[in-house]
Amino acid sequence: MSTENFLHELVGSMSQGAAGNPTVAMIEAAFAHHGLHWRYINMEVTPTDLSAAVRGAKAMGFRGFNCSLPHKVTVIPHLDGLGESAAVMGAVNCVVRRGEKLIGENTDGKGFLKSLETEIDPKGKSVVLFGAGGAARAIAVELGLAGTKRITIVNRSKLRGAELVALLRDKLKLDAELVVWSGDYAVPAGTDIVINGTSIGLYAPEARLALDLSSMKPGMVVADVVFSPVRTRFLDDAAARGCRAIDGLGMLVNQGIVGVQYWTGITPDAAVMRKALEAAMGV
Ligand code: NDP
Repeated sequence: MSTENFLHELVGSMSQGAAGNPTVAMIEAAFAHHGLHWRYINMEVTPTDLSAAVRGAKAMGFRGFNCSLPHKVTVIPHLDGLGESAAVMGAVNCVVRRGEKLIGENTDGKGFLKSLETEIDPKGKSVVLFGAGGAARAIAVELGLAGTKRITIVNRSKLRGAELVALLRDKLKLDAELVVWSGDYAVPAGTDIVINGTSIGLYAPEARLALDLSSMKPGMVVADVVFSPVRTRFLDDAAARGCRAIDGLGMLVNQGIVGVQYWTGITPDAAVMRKALEAAMGV
């Protein structure tokens, strides 16, 4: 049978203003590498059209779709159910068709965790997490579900930080505290993992995290959500002090891997996906 005779399965990405999304190349490289006659399609969807777009994807038999800003929260009422972490954090970035149902998952935190686990198992560990926005929230919830002992949220806005700490305490019974970020933050002794979950450094190689570098100790694991530049100043400074660094591209690749696993049931080749992503990003 020629490939033309195969019915292509469809997966999509619903977002607004994300033309040129480099993850398209990454996901399609995985499909091609594993001989799947699937397509991953970028779709511009306005907030007004979201409900119709979700119903359309369901009607057309899409196997699922990613959704990014501004749809991560507003998509929820249009779905048939939520996975565990998506329900806790109240945000969805990956929708999966299971039977006749569209189920919302969140792969951002899961992707981060997979990337982190190449260096350290977070179970029983103490974590400092800068930020309390969408990415930090996804990471904190997934760390909590993975059995992290203690999380200190360091955030500039008290309100956003307090909301995240309350969620971690109330829904996951986690030992969580908030430090309102002002001046250079000194990482407490005994911290195992330090994460930049803010957008500081994105497209800004010189941007500096307000952090007392002398508190960073050899052997600590440091991770950044920022993926452009791949090697941020935070990671370079920490590595220079003997910390083990994990870049944000690993998180992006791994959230793609989790999505492909959800949609297709196969575990895609990580190296193929990272190479395609790097090529699409020109790094
Ligand atoms: P949000 O806008 O939801 O949150 C931004 C966070 O950064 C907030 O905690 C904000 O603090 C903090 N912040 C921003 N600027 C400053 C500053 N100058 N000083 C102190 N704090 C600051 O963004 P997201 O959480 O969605 O995204 C954050 C980053 O994560 C982005 O760079 C994004 O590209 C990246 N990301 C990476 C992914 C990956 O796969 N690698 C996946 C998803 C996101 P405050 O609350 O005080 O405003």
